[in-house]
Amino acid sequence: MENNDSTVKTDFIREIIREDINSGRFSSGIMTRFPPEPNGYLHIGHAKSICLNFGIAAEFGGKCNLRFDDTNPTKEEQEYVDSIKEDVRWLGFDWEEREYYASDYFDQLYQYARKLIDKGKAFVCDLTADQIRDFRGTLTQPGKGSPYRNRSVDENLALFERMRQGEYPDGFRTLRAKIDMASPNLNLRDPVMYRILHASHHRTGEKWCIYPMYDWAHGQSDSIEGITHSICTLEFEDHRPLYDWFITELGIHHPRQIEFARLALTYTVMSKRKLLELVKRKIVSGWDDPRMPTISGLRRRGFTPESIRLFAERIGVAKRDSMVEISVLEDCIRELLNKQAPRVMAVLRPLKVVLVNYPDEKTEEFETDNNPEDLSMGKRLVPFSKLLYIEREDFSENPPKGYFRLTPTNEVRLKHAYFIRLKEVVRDGSGEIVELHCTYDPDTHGGEAKDGRKVKGTIHWVSAAHSVDAEVRLYDHLFSKEDPEDDSDGRDFFGSVNPDSMITLKECKLEKSMGQAAKGSRFQFLRHGYFLVDPVDSKPERPVFDRIVSLKDAWKKK
Ligand code: ATP
Ligand code: MG
Repeated sequence: MENNDSTVKTDFIREIIREDINSGRFSSGIMTRFPPEPNGYLHIGHAKSICLNFGIAAEFGGKCNLRFDDTNPTKEEQEYVDSIKEDVRWLGFDWEEREYYASDYFDQLYQYARKLIDKGKAFVCDLTADQIRDFRGTLTQPGKGSPYRNRSVDENLALFERMRQGEYPDGFRTLRAKIDMASPNLNLRDPVMYRILHASHHRTGEKWCIYPMYDWAHGQSDSIEGITHSICTLEFEDHRPLYDWFITELGIHHPRQIEFARLALTYTVMSKRKLLELVKRKIVSGWDDPRMPTISGLRRRGFTPESIRLFAERIGVAKRDSMVEISVLEDCIRELLNKQAPRVMAVLRPLKVVLVNYPDEKTEEFETDNNPEDLSMGKRLVPFSKLLYIEREDFSENPPKGYFRLTPTNEVRLKHAYFIRLKEVVRDGSGEIVELHCTYDPDTHGGEAKDGRKVKGTIHWVSAAHSVDAEVRLYDHLFSKEDPEDDSDGRDFFGSVNPDSMITLKECKLEKSMGQAAKGSRFQFLRHGYFLVDPVDSKPERPVFDRIVSLKDAWKKK
């Protein structure tokens, strides 16, 4: 991936890598990996890790592998593998031919395990999972050694082979490392390396009925691939001594594990298990629902790869867990689209306006910049006529203080066009306002009054005869609580789903050109935010738009 950023990044991980390069710790180049478990779709936290691992490799002239950590056959599926590859590619990263699977190393791992048995550093244990837990002790109390700890090497080798041959039922025996039951680090109290599990694997099929535990598979996979820096999240800090122990005992290539803080975002849950629950309970339409913090959801919502890379760069990496405001992510896409997205006028909740003194058949056009932030994007003509739509909320009969839009007394500017004034409110039988009769002032053509008088409010509009009907979906935070995982108020994260996280407006009126807008293209609807032409549901005769993000400041005054 091209790195256009000329500033040199100096976070603690990059400092460590620079030191290792200077000291010659690793003779060949820098090698990192992104190691997802294919048990769900990737989320924005993974994006942080992807940008970090691929980014570092690129900056230091190294390589980054994509490695599926597929050691847990009951939860893993090909669908997830495919989605992960799509998402990493979409983010702009390339693992070239280096697509690896921990399952490719099962044979090698088995041989490594035999080597540890040979050295008297691993044993077959007959304790049940519950017993192992009881024997392990606590943070304040040492554990007790398994009664099977001192089996002979030959017996261990034979039993291990019989485990592999499928002679025993699930959970009947395990292979454990023989380290130290009194270690203050619980991870070193004879951790389980293999468990028996008669399950079909998405790649190895029925070949194996023993599967390596994460700690056993992970470091050895790193070593096999010649990884130099194995970057992982903080919860693995306590596992590092075990990571190092396995590799030292085996005497194989020794990567350096470095931990960083995992990303947490306000108003968001990030664990795949919880995201899967949202999908299963149909709280969202799928992993790629535009409200999901998944990469596919953000893509469907209209975020660009560039915006996510910018976000990863802005949040940086730290050694301490913290919660990042979701607005940081929103600001990234907003800033980029501000420069890139053409402006159009769109009325989402229309109220009809008749300009009673405007000629019936007349149409005129006002010229405007497509993007005032980038004049090279050209200009367009916006048609204007007697019958218009404005936003319902841009008219108030009993305006609150500070309301500068249309009222029975406020004159207001129609953006680019004329000043208008209210003449009459027209209601239906039930008293509901159905249209406004207004007058326009021909001496304010282009939005400036010849006599120099000012108005405080400017509102947008669409000419009825030149409009297209559209559906617009407004998205908001999926959860209404800043930390949805905090259940101290008695509500779990399901209980804090925001009922207004998706609002569908079906009677929107847009500039006619929006009927031709290409699927997947992005626009700024003046005062409303940035919108994506829905890549799936939009049709020329009935365009559908998704709000990517709102505008920070709605322009109340011109
Ligand atoms: P989850 O708990 O969300 O399911 P995980 O850590 O089990 O995540 P993996 O597929 O094992 O998911 O993660 C692949 C890589 O992405 C790992 O290196 C992991 O550390 C990193 N990663 C996962 N979640 C985050 C996060 N929130 N922030 C940063 N990195 C993350
Ligand atoms: Mg995991």
